[in-house]
Amino acid sequence: MTANRVETADKMKQLLFESSSMIEDYTREVCPASTEVCCKQKHGMFRENDIIYLHALGMQVPPRDHGRPLEGPCELMGPRGCEQPRWLRPFRCTWYFCEPLLTALNDGPSRKARQLSALLQEMVDLYHELGREEAPDRERF
Ligand code: SF4
Repeated sequence: MTANRVETADKMKQLLFESSSMIEDYTREVCPASTEVCCKQKHGMFRENDIIYLHALGMQVPPRDHGRPLEGPCELMGPRGCEQPRWLRPFRCTWYFCEPLLTALNDGPSRKARQLSALLQEMVDLYHELGREEAPDRERF
């Protein structure tokens, strides 16, 4: 018997908070110098497990402008980066590390890289778990 989705989603949200400033230590250095925009509109779209996560937290899925080109910049990309808090973004926005980000991770302090890698792995496991667990009673109706 697995834990229910609410517990898993709460844990996921907590880890997204914990990891956010660690991830931003790298993106702050790497992203402004990047010539390619990773944050395309298609990457800011919510997938099935993102929706399960948000519903388990009792949240509505944040609206997206389906009229925007999917290959263009994400509508949430502001001058100082993403305008949505990490825990409300699709999980892809957190787990995806481009090559320059991976290089920064590997070239930086190894203890910090290990900590962040462990957090990311834990979140990946929880994200997949969300799709496998039974829905709590309030989602069955
Ligand atoms: S991090 Fe934010 S701006 Fe980038 S794709 Fe995700 S939602 Fe869009």
